[in-house]
Amino acid sequence: MQRHPGTNPPAFTTRVLATKDDSLLLEETHCYPRGGGQPGDTGNIRLADGKSAALHEVLPGEMILHPVDEIEMFKTGQEVSCEIDIIRRNGHTMMHTAQHIFSALAEDLWGCETVGNQIGADQSRVDLLFEDKELFNPEELTETVNSVLSSNIPVNIHEWEREKILGHEKMRHTKFMHRIPTSITHLRVVEVEGVDLCPCAGTHVSNTSQIPRVRYLGKKNKGKGRLRVSYDFE
Ligand SMILES: [Zn+2]
Repeated sequence: MQRHPGTNPPAFTTRVLATKDDSLLLEETHCYPRGGGQPGDTGNIRLADGKSAALHEVLPGEMILHPVDEIEMFKTGQEVSCEIDIIRRNGHTMMHTAQHIFSALAEDLWGCETVGNQIGADQSRVDLLFEDKELFNPEELTETVNSVLSSNIPVNIHEWEREKILGHEKMRHTKFMHRIPTSITHLRVVEVEGVDLCPCAGTHVSNTSQIPRVRYLGKKNKGKGRLRVSYDFE
């Protein structure tokens, strides 16, 4: 099983390894921790006796942090079962995969680079850096994105070596790779066949047909050459 199954992650059982402030550290986790513009999972953590606590947004760290209400309920070594809020996760997964396509097509159309993004379950935004932002045409972008979404294009996940990633002529977004410790020799690469190829640790659908049509919401000027473009689903 993938560590972060993109949609409908099943509940999983594990043990409490330790607590840190108001967070649980778990022996194993399938929760997505906040990162790369995508919010962390939320949900519920249940003890064997049936008592449960709300799981707040899961956060990255040396070990993944699972903040809970009533941390005093939990003890090291206890078995717990974790349920991820599926509707919220599925929203993030669809929005995030749509963002790959959105960014890739904006680059293909106008040569602009994605320099930031914030994913939400209901709406998302992408910061695009243009040579000439007068080129931006929201109808053209939305139409192109929606035609990809309705074309049943497979989304594949690969684990590739750094050299292969850096040497691939179609690879996008490799600038951040120097920040990842060199002890990590393989990185996850996400491929929307024929549309996008880039290293990414977020969660993804397995086919573009799982994503609703996107709708353009608006743009904001964010300085020279920079536009913040928002979208949601129809
Ligand atoms: Zn991604």
